[in-house]
Amino acid sequence: MVEKVKLIDVSKCTGCRGCQLACKQWNQQPARQTENYGTYQNPPDLQWNTWTLIRFQEVVEKDKLKWLFRKDGCMHCTDAACVKVCPSGALHYTDSGAVAINHGICIGCKECVSACPFNIPRYDRVTDKIYKCDLCLSRLEADLIPACAKACPTGAITFGDKDKMIKKAYARVKELGGDANVYGDKFVGGTHVIYVLQEKPKVYQDLPRNPSVPLTVTIWKDLLKPMSLLAAGGVIGGSFLHYILHGPKLPDEPGQEKGGE
Ligand code: SF4
Ligand code: SF4
Ligand code: SF4
Repeated sequence: MVEKVKLIDVSKCTGCRGCQLACKQWNQQPARQTENYGTYQNPPDLQWNTWTLIRFQEVVEKDKLKWLFRKDGCMHCTDAACVKVCPSGALHYTDSGAVAINHGICIGCKECVSACPFNIPRYDRVTDKIYKCDLCLSRLEADLIPACAKACPTGAITFGDKDKMIKKAYARVKELGGDANVYGDKFVGGTHVIYVLQEKPKVYQDLPRNPSVPLTVTIWKDLLKPMSLLAAGGVIGGSFLHYILHGPKLPDEPGQEKGGE
């Protein structure tokens, strides 16, 4: 399969959250009762059962209030820190270039949670597994586009061959002018989710300006992992990795995840 990219043009997003709902529906992720946190952003953060989230942000420009909407979720890095660090091999690349997870072999070590430069994977203590977007692998295998792209009524999310989508992104930035820019094609080997941003990246909350694979992860992958005890099924390898990177493992605290469980 040719490498694919999901292009998110935030200038066309109306914040309707059709994509958020479509993601939940296709992936059969249960909704949770929620409450008013004083923002339309709901739930407040990504969760083990919310793999894509529209972030709402208010900015003041020339004394006028302006909404910024940004669809957040896995960026599907080419040089993915989560894949590098995963001791069991549960996180892996697919033919389209996306990063998917085999839950059957995830050991719940949460190393991918610490390593991801975009703060994406979320842990569920009930199943002792992590969860995140897999770019709708089951749909791609059936020649369908991701559910979020299919649902978007404004054309803010489009999906296609990598080269074509990157060209489209730069053409749109030219059309928009001002501070518009392409975000995603220049770091972590290029991501398979690319944004057209209206504002400079620093304006968007929760969006890293220069995301990179943490040095500890590179050291682990290139130097320590080959020497670790992965042959023992990943469990010992995972513990060894955690000890090397973070020290002794502490008990999981309830409510550690903002808005999660
Ligand atoms: S955004 Fe995070 S979870 Fe997604 S591929 Fe990159 S490192 Fe992995
Ligand atoms: S929790 Fe551990 S085993 Fe599971 S996907 Fe993340 S790094 Fe891999
Ligand atoms: S479906 Fe499209 S317009 Fe609606 S919130 Fe998602 S990206 Fe924005």
